[in-house]
Amino acid sequence: MDCARSIELLSDYDAGLLGDDDKLFVITHLSTCSDCDGVFRDLKLIVQTAFAMRSENGIAYPDEESLWQRLSASRVVH
Ligand SMILES: [Zn+2]
Repeated sequence: MDCARSIELLSDYDAGLLGDDDKLFVITHLSTCSDCDGVFRDLKLIVQTAFAMRSENGIAYPDEESLWQRLSASRVVH
């Protein structure tokens, strides 16, 4: 299923860690799938919020990876 693969790759895509093939797949999929595009927006928001809270307050905020796992698990409909 394309969405499952897309969700799996999103955090690495955001971090710039994907190879050309995977990156192209994500870009193509996001442009045709509004569900995954919405998930990607959420992911970016989580990463930015977690980063901002850490740098502004110096507190140990739950890391974005675990928040992301929880969110994507709740969003993906199989
Ligand atoms: Zn999708």
